[in-house]
Amino acid sequence: MEDLRDKYEVVIGLEVHAQLKTKSKIFAPDTNEFGQEPNSLTSPITLGMPGVLPVLNKEVVNMGILTGLALNCEIPERCKFDRKQYFYPDLPKGYQISQYDEPICVNGYLNVKGKRIGITRAHLEEDAGKLVHAGSDGIAGSSYSLVDLNRAGTPLLEIVSEPDMRSSEEARNYMEELRNIVRYIGVCDGNLEEGSMRCDANISIMPKGSKTFGTRAEIKNVNSFSALQRAIEYEIDRQIEIVEEGGEVVQETRLWDDNSRETKSMRGKEDAHDYRYFPEPDLMPLKISREWVQEIKDKMPELPQQKRERYMSLGLSEYDASVIVEQMGLALFFDKVLELGASPKIAVNFIMGEIAAYLKEEKLEITDTKLTPENLVELISLIEKNTISNNIGKQIIIDMMKDGTPASKIVEDRGLSQISDTGAIKDVAKKVVEAHPNEVAAYKGGKVQLLGFFVGQVMKETKGRANPKAVNEILKEILG
Ligand code: ADP
Ligand code: MG
Repeated sequence: MEDLRDKYEVVIGLEVHAQLKTKSKIFAPDTNEFGQEPNSLTSPITLGMPGVLPVLNKEVVNMGILTGLALNCEIPERCKFDRKQYFYPDLPKGYQISQYDEPICVNGYLNVKGKRIGITRAHLEEDAGKLVHAGSDGIAGSSYSLVDLNRAGTPLLEIVSEPDMRSSEEARNYMEELRNIVRYIGVCDGNLEEGSMRCDANISIMPKGSKTFGTRAEIKNVNSFSALQRAIEYEIDRQIEIVEEGGEVVQETRLWDDNSRETKSMRGKEDAHDYRYFPEPDLMPLKISREWVQEIKDKMPELPQQKRERYMSLGLSEYDASVIVEQMGLALFFDKVLELGASPKIAVNFIMGEIAAYLKEEKLEITDTKLTPENLVELISLIEKNTISNNIGKQIIIDMMKDGTPASKIVEDRGLSQISDTGAIKDVAKKVVEAHPNEVAAYKGGKVQLLGFFVGQVMKETKGRANPKAVNEILKEILG
């Protein structure tokens, strides 16, 4: 397959749905919350009862504009809502209120790892309910399906990219950056597993050098970044095989099955005219004043790319900066530590080292631990003042996460403060030298790299508490 790959160019465009974290739904007063008792968040509006009218939630529009600005989009002065008709048991009204030809955001782009990906548009719409299918968890062995309409009417922003990506890796990078952005600006949890962020991947292939795109297939049901990459890889191979055998790719929607690791045909892809879109008669077109846009622009928080650049300007490597930004909890914690005036270098070593390892091992977020930014800053200052060594710091940071004890208290209780008293270090150093006559002879004979061995022995004797600089100097003096 690898050599066949060289004959084709891959074209990918993503449609990403982000559930907006508003308090209430887009057109109804029901609480917008995941994980509640089924069908408990269902007002007559959500149920599509006759005679009810939708009322637009202003916060949804605010979040739509904020996201659009973060994605370098234009926010047109006017947008409107349209009805998209289709029948499905999770859609009681028989239509979805969406935006068709006048969306809230247009013409944006995102720079992802040096590549610019165009964003065609982003539009607001309502989510449908959720079907719990026959035989699935909860109704195992059943021959019927159930519907939970809590999700119906949840606000969504659908972000549609240009067909600008050329590999599964680029698609993944774009999706990850999009997730970072919606999380940092606070409009979406970005949780692929729970479905608060969902992605449809459109994929086609064409002979290398061609200017005409091939027919695309749309892949749904991808619920992790790695699954997205796997699904695209599978789909590329499937399409190449069809074309190589003289067949034609058909335009259709396919479902990714992450267990069997293949896509399966779900349905022929509808064209827009099949939905009979028309302007939603129950909602006025929306005028968005330039003042409104400016007000939101003024509140734009620092974006992931800006954060990475700021961290790099503090001396972090690009890799470290990216890893911290990827984990928002850690980045916010790190920012707090920096605000309190700690040295970025030492802070990063702790955060990327012991802290990140512990969190990964225990599957925790930093906020699940008892470590406060203040306590980490105090620990760092103890190291900078040479009260304790870096090694001792590494030993006690885990306890600080577990029980919240300040570093100074642990150091005092356990007698961990660094020995800088030259007299005490000299005594230990003399003992070490006397105990290793062979090494001393070798050192004196020119094997100066043995100094490290002696330093190690002294550190061992003092349980890591001796000041390494003082140890070096004293040993050199004794060994002559
Ligand atoms: P629809 O709404 O019917 O899915 P759109 O025209 O809005 O169709 O396109 C949806 C997505 O498909 C966009 O992200 C676009 O970039 C992508 N796309 C369009 N044509 C192709 C193609 N030939 N190959 C891959 N992706 C494509
Ligand atoms: Mg689509």
